[in-house]
Amino acid sequence: MTWSAAQREYMSRALEVAEKGRGQVRPNPLVGCVLVKDGFVIAEGWHDHLGGLHAEQMAIHDAEEKGHNTNGSTAYITLEPCNHFGRTPPCTEALLWAGIGEVIIAHGDPNPLVRGDGISVLEEAGIKVQSGLLENEAAEQMREFLHWCENRRPYVTVKVAIDANGSVDDLSKDAARFTSDECLKHVHNLRKDCCAILVGANTVIRDDPSLTVRLVESERQPIRVVIDPNNRIDPNSKVLNDGFATRHLTSGFRGLPALLDMLGDLEIQRLLVEGGPTTINYFLEEGLVDEFILVQSNAVHTTPVNSNFDLTSFSSVEEKTWGEESVKIYTR
Ligand SMILES: [Zn+2]
Repeated sequence: MTWSAAQREYMSRALEVAEKGRGQVRPNPLVGCVLVKDGFVIAEGWHDHLGGLHAEQMAIHDAEEKGHNTNGSTAYITLEPCNHFGRTPPCTEALLWAGIGEVIIAHGDPNPLVRGDGISVLEEAGIKVQSGLLENEAAEQMREFLHWCENRRPYVTVKVAIDANGSVDDLSKDAARFTSDECLKHVHNLRKDCCAILVGANTVIRDDPSLTVRLVESERQPIRVVIDPNNRIDPNSKVLNDGFATRHLTSGFRGLPALLDMLGDLEIQRLLVEGGPTTINYFLEEGLVDEFILVQSNAVHTTPVNSNFDLTSFSSVEEKTWGEESVKIYTR
């Protein structure tokens, strides 16, 4: 399949508007849609929040608001339109009602409930459908959704900060953050995109963290998960008393694979592990880490705690800067 530069541009725009729903639509994937008529983008839509309109329906609504006739237009959609009654009526129906002439899709729907169905329903109604435009980019955008559909477990992201020499903590001091304010904002954005945040008992005992999203706007808070098989944390800890959801796993903890299965059943698609080295190494040893974010600060700890994370099984590294910190993102 060869695509024109204009077609790529329209789908790029659909991917761009889909981003506006990040952190707000789970367990649904990010989806964007643009309607094009006579060479012009006449409307845009995206799945904005759980329970809200799907991207296609928002785009059709947007066209109506702007006074454009959708008849005969082409819809560029990042994901195959749904054809079942979920939280909203099917988008295939909306596209038919709107008189859309052609549909171009980036990625097929991996959900076994709807696979292939949306495309065939549209084709049977006489709409020309093409699929696969910027498919890899769309797959990257909904990485955690695809991972969850395939494995019924969350995509596991580890985030850990180290000093200039690789130490994760300074035992000469009370627990304190040693990264910049700007970096912390990035961490809160990361938390916003995760459905659950996990730490071990030691982190709660040493830091008493709240593990909530505070520095960026968020309608939802991730579920906190604390692994504490010997029930050691203080009952007055913030995670048990601040009113937000926490799963405190005590004697019922049956190991990480069973935990990931349980979180997958709860439709947790992305888990952020913010624990200390014991918890992180436990995940690494069991081969359960999909993404490892290593945040390195210029600080130097007086009484260091060395981490020695074995990252040799990761094949790709991306480098970024978060405030004053340099960040390496390892993926498989
Ligand atoms: Zn839909």
